[in-house]
Amino acid sequence: MAMQQPVMKLIPKDSIRWHVHEIAARIDADYPDGILYLLGVLQGSWMFLADLARAIKRPVRIDFMSVHRIRRGEEVSNPGQEALITRYPESLLFDDSHVLIVEDIVGTGVTIKRIRTYLATLRPRSVQVVTLLDKPSRRTVRGLDLKYVGCQVPNVFVVGYGMDYEQDYRNLSDIHILRRCTYKHCVFYTSDAKDFCSEACARSDFSTREIELVKE
Ligand code: 5GP
Ligand code: MG
Repeated sequence: MAMQQPVMKLIPKDSIRWHVHEIAARIDADYPDGILYLLGVLQGSWMFLADLARAIKRPVRIDFMSVHRIRRGEEVSNPGQEALITRYPESLLFDDSHVLIVEDIVGTGVTIKRIRTYLATLRPRSVQVVTLLDKPSRRTVRGLDLKYVGCQVPNVFVVGYGMDYEQDYRNLSDIHILRRCTYKHCVFYTSDAKDFCSEACARSDFSTREIELVKE
């Protein structure tokens, strides 16, 4: 069995559920007719997409794509590239459809920018973004338009609810922070997590009491 590091719960499943349903209701109100594709960005968005698709009441179509973020020092054919599409959607024709890109979390915005550039060539009726989490402190792409955002998180590395650290943790129902994180961008601040949760409390229905250490 893979060794997993200790994690701290940041967003409990009840709160996630609340955000999923709130977003779904807005999508139902905003898209009255026409074909709507939920375009999930693999792999992290799979659990969010599965719950969101069931919370939305109008008909939707579902497709997926994946994007590889190019790391510093990684050799690529085109040195200017920041992200590479590694899986294209099955549906190559979106010309009569609304497309809603479904992300687990948006950081720099490079992934969304790459997907938007690709979709623009397919001329859909509209392209919008829904993301469960947003980490605005990491943004490098200016003017990124995120239509539906569940909650903002501070500059911490989160796992669970579909999101991984080296392929582990995806099946956790709550969103957690790694307590001892070796990921180079990870900053773990307990106080940050508390601040975030107090702010999130004002916007949703969970209490800071729910911040608890998961059994190590
Ligand atoms: P961006 O291109 O916006 O910097 O990054 C977007 C992608 O990076 C997300 O779809 C997700 O796959 C990954 N990512 C960004 N922040 C986190 C995080 O805190 N945890 C995990 N597991 N993945 C993240
Ligand atoms: Mg993702």
